[in-house]
Amino acid sequence: MVNKNRLIDEFIRLVQIDSESGNERAICDFLKEKLSSLGLDVVEDCSAAFTKHSAGNLIATYTGSIADAPTIYFTSHMDTVAPGKKVKPSILGDYIVTDGTTILGSDDKAGIAAIVEGIRLLRELNIPHGNLQFVFTVGEESGLVGARHLDKSLMEAEYGFAFDAGGQVGEIITSAPAQVKIEAEIHGKAAHAGSSPEAGISAIQVASQAISKMKLGRIDAETTANIGMFQGGIATNVVPEYVKIFAEARSRDEKKLVHQVEEMVMAFELTAKQMGAKAEVETKSLYPGYFFTEEDLVVQKAIAGVKKVGRTPHLGVSGGGSDANVLAGYGIPTVNLSIGYENIHTTNERMSIPELVKAAELVVALVEESAH
Ligand SMILES: [Zn+2]
Repeated sequence: MVNKNRLIDEFIRLVQIDSESGNERAICDFLKEKLSSLGLDVVEDCSAAFTKHSAGNLIATYTGSIADAPTIYFTSHMDTVAPGKKVKPSILGDYIVTDGTTILGSDDKAGIAAIVEGIRLLRELNIPHGNLQFVFTVGEESGLVGARHLDKSLMEAEYGFAFDAGGQVGEIITSAPAQVKIEAEIHGKAAHAGSSPEAGISAIQVASQAISKMKLGRIDAETTANIGMFQGGIATNVVPEYVKIFAEARSRDEKKLVHQVEEMVMAFELTAKQMGAKAEVETKSLYPGYFFTEEDLVVQKAIAGVKKVGRTPHLGVSGGGSDANVLAGYGIPTVNLSIGYENIHTTNERMSIPELVKAAELVVALVEESAH
C-alpha cells in the first residue's frame, strides 16, 4: 500500500531542507506548494509576527466526502534542533542515517513525510474520509512557540494526533506533564567580606537555605522539579547582594504541580524574609499538561488505528512537553504517537525505514477509524 521509495525520497528531500528553529521559511514554502498541489487548502497563520521566526504555522485542510464524520487533525513540527544545516542523509541497511556531523531531523520530518505519504494514499486509493486538517508548526524545539501562537480560529478539528515521539509505532502517549518555569531573584545586602561581613546579607546563603528546604528531583511518579541555573556574586571579598535562580517543575497532575510550585516559591520568600533579604519570584506556565485514558475517544481511535496496521497498542506517559500539550490545552484532545525515530537531538540520530512505512500506514488507518 505505502509507496516505500516515494516515502523515502520525500523524507530525504525534507531532511535536506535546513530548518533549525527560527529558520523555517524554506520548508514552510516547500510544504505549502506540496500540499496545495495535493489539493489541500493551505493557510500560513500570522504567528511569525509574535514568534519572530521566519515563517508561521501551516494549517492545511483536506475536505472530505463523508459529511457527518468528525474533523480530525494531524500535527508534526517543521523545525529541528542544531546542528541541523546541510544534512547529508544516506541509507544504511534498514536505516536512514547522517554523516555524523549533523542531526538527521527525523524529529520531526519523519512525521511530516509519513503524513504527506498518508495524504497521497488517501487520494490514490479513493479512501472515503471526513474533513482532515494538518498542522505543521514552527518552533516546537524552541519552547513550543509556534503551537503557542497558533491561530486557533483556523482549527475545526474535534481531536487529533501528533506524530512526534520516539519508540516503535504502536506507542500512544496518553499523558504528558504541564511545566512551570520559576525565576527567583534574591536581594541581600553587600558588605566587605573581611572587614564587615556582619553588615551584609548574603544572597547566596539565603538562596542555598531556601533551596535546601525544597523537595527537588523526582517528587513522585507524576511530578519532578529542578533548580537549573544559579547566577550571581561578584568577588570573594564581597558579601553577595544578588543572585538569580532559574528553576522548573513539571507534573501530569495539575494539583500536584500547583502545590510543588507553591512550596518552591514559599521557600524563597519565607527564607528571604527570615534572613532579612527580599525575594522576587516569578512563575510562568510554559505549557499545560494533558491526560487522557481509554475512556477518551482520541485514545480509542489511536488504539484502533494501531491495531489496524498490525501493531499492539501500548499506552505510555511522557516526562516532557510537545505541541500535543499545547493543542490539547486549546480543548482539542490530542495524543502523541511514536513514529520510530532514534537518538534524536544527537548526531547519531537515525530513522528506521520500516517504522517510517508503518507511520505512514498509521495515518491512513487513523483516518479510516475516525470516519465512522
Ligand atoms: Zn519533535
